[in-house]
This record gives sequence, structure tokens and C-alpha cells, in this order.
Amino acid sequence: MAELANCERCNRVFVKQFREICDTCYKKEEDDFKTVYTFLRKRENRTATIGQIVAATDVDEHLLHKFIREKRLQPSQFPNISYPCERCGGPITEGNICEDCQTQLKEDLVQHEAEESIQEKALNEAKETTYYAKGEWKKG
Ligand SMILES: [Zn+2]
Ligand SMILES: [Zn+2]
Repeated sequence: MAELANCERCNRVFVKQFREICDTCYKKEEDDFKTVYTFLRKRENRTATIGQIVAATDVDEHLLHKFIREKRLQPSQFPNISYPCERCGGPITEGNICEDCQTQLKEDLVQHEAEESIQEKALNEAKETTYYAKGEWKKG
């Protein structure tokens, strides 16, 4: 069933089928991709950085990030392309966050779990104390 949505790029209302963007923007993206790819395919441009590609092709930096994220541009072929980590903005070539942030997040999680188990222990101890106190009261 046809669903109306706002295009992620130009915000125009369009009939959403398979894409988050309208046909006009899709065509523009495909054109941009061809421009970038034609540029990168030249041997002397293979090691271009995102900044150099933007300067040479006039294609939006965010769009380049998207192409890499979608693996249309492969960092294995073009060693200097990357997109920013969602957490620290550092350059990454796959996933959403860099290795440093992944390690950091894992450590935070371990820390968080440790804190939770301390809290739980304290809570259990508090319960035991209450129980003991009640028992004493009953006995007396
Ligand atoms: Zn659009
Ligand atoms: Zn990061």
C-alpha cells in the first residue's frame, strides 16, 4: 500500500516505497555516486580523503559517509575514506562507533553491572536486617 512520507533530504512529500528519499533526490544521489565513483576509479585518486573527494566532486560529505556506510564505497578499495563514529566523531569504516568507543561502552556496562550488584546486595542485606528485626520482635 502506498504510504506518504517526507523525503529525508528535501522534505518534500512523496509516495514511500522502498526508499527514505524521493525520486528526485534518489536520482541526484545516483548521479553523485557516479561522479564520486568515476573520480575514485582513477588510479591517482584512490587514496583521496573525504575532504579531497568533496573538493573535487562537490558531493555532500554526508552523502559520502552514507555511501561508505552502505558499503557502496569500500574502504578496502579506497584506503583513506571513512565516516565519523557516532559517539566521538573519530573516523571509522564499519559499524556505528569506533573500537575505542566500543571498549569504553563495554567498560561502562561492566561498571554499571557492578554498581547494580552492589545495590542489590545492599538491598538484600537491608531485607535480611528487617526480617531479623521482625523475628526479634515476635520472639519478645
Ligand atoms: Zn527529496
Ligand atoms: Zn568513537
